[in-house]
Amino acid sequence: MEYRGVQCLTTWRIRRLRRRIGFSHGTLRTDSEFATARIFDTTLRDGEQSPRTSFCYDDKREIATALDAMGVHVIEAGFPVNSDAEFKAVSDIATHTDTTVCGLARVVDGDVEAALDSGVDMVHTFASTSEVQLKDSMHATREEVIERSVDCVRRVADAGVDVMFSPMDATRTDHDYLTEVIEAVSEAGVDWINIPDTCGVATPARFADLIETVREHTDARIDVHTHDDFGLASANALAGFEAGADQAQVSVNGIGERAGNAAFEQVVMAVESVYGADTGVETTGITELARTVEERSGIDTPANAPIVGANAFSHESGIHAAGVIENSATFEPGVMTPEMVGAEREFVLGKHTGTHSVAKRLREVGYEPTDDEVRTVTREVKEFGATDRRITDERLVAFADDHGVERAAERVTEGPAR
Ligand code: MN
Repeated sequence: MEYRGVQCLTTWRIRRLRRRIGFSHGTLRTDSEFATARIFDTTLRDGEQSPRTSFCYDDKREIATALDAMGVHVIEAGFPVNSDAEFKAVSDIATHTDTTVCGLARVVDGDVEAALDSGVDMVHTFASTSEVQLKDSMHATREEVIERSVDCVRRVADAGVDVMFSPMDATRTDHDYLTEVIEAVSEAGVDWINIPDTCGVATPARFADLIETVREHTDARIDVHTHDDFGLASANALAGFEAGADQAQVSVNGIGERAGNAAFEQVVMAVESVYGADTGVETTGITELARTVEERSGIDTPANAPIVGANAFSHESGIHAAGVIENSATFEPGVMTPEMVGAEREFVLGKHTGTHSVAKRLREVGYEPTDDEVRTVTREVKEFGATDRRITDERLVAFADDHGVERAAERVTEGPAR
């Protein structure tokens, strides 16, 4: 690596780079497959299409403002033709944010005009291309789809607005027809081709193959949209980047149709921390944004959700907690810390607790326990925790007081100054 190159990095980047090198000496490769990755957030569009979820105007504005401040490349704000309220929300977000704002449109004139009228910077238009959707959802022939798609792409391009086209259900579309559609819209002036795994059937290697093939048929930039029906959405999005996609569509907490989309927090942090590449996203806002979306969407985040779950940076078992207290890289990824996502590490006391956690917590709440006292209180904690009960600080204090553990202040008054 050139010295001049290192100088250009911010202190933050240098710190991260060092950590990556420090903790990646293992069995996995450490050179990055790509250097940068763009983030297209669809929390307000596909995310809002989660069953039983709808964002009000204020929710949309609040979430868009946070995404804008964090530096996402595109915010898909909604589906302007849907309703007057939706049109107004999309329009206001387009006016009040600095980043690129995108509106969705079917390959229908009214949809495209509504999207253009809303003042968005990008129109995302889509048409079904798989046989099953052509026949039983869109009720159109292959030829009609190409004709309508080309017309809509041309209309948006003529208006001087960025245009993205999605062959919906691309991963279940006949290969030859897919390339035919892609070549037709490319010729019509499309800026972005989005490859959607609409029903979540892709696997990382197969999806990467598809993206490589698509790239051979267009000069447009490639975007990917993946669904989590088999828990592969984030892995598939990352496979897309590895295969040369410029951008991935994600939603905060992974909300979206059915099992949802690739999660914003998973894709961003994997790109930043595991690949050591750059999304340009300010990652320290992730935890707060995730809590906001959890609350506004009404979709609870599971405790074991990656990065944003309550347990993501929590430790209970004695061996793990003792290691993490000494060096967090022992039983955390090492390349990702809670601070990087605006979260806090937590040591939970319970059945699996060891003495290190108990000693640490006792000191934090003001005690100066001896080793014997720590062992005694740990026994109490484990016994109490074994019956599925939570060890609150109040409970810990009661255990400590029962066994006559001295508080730090008492010892300071008795002992020599330090
Ligand atoms: Mn979708």
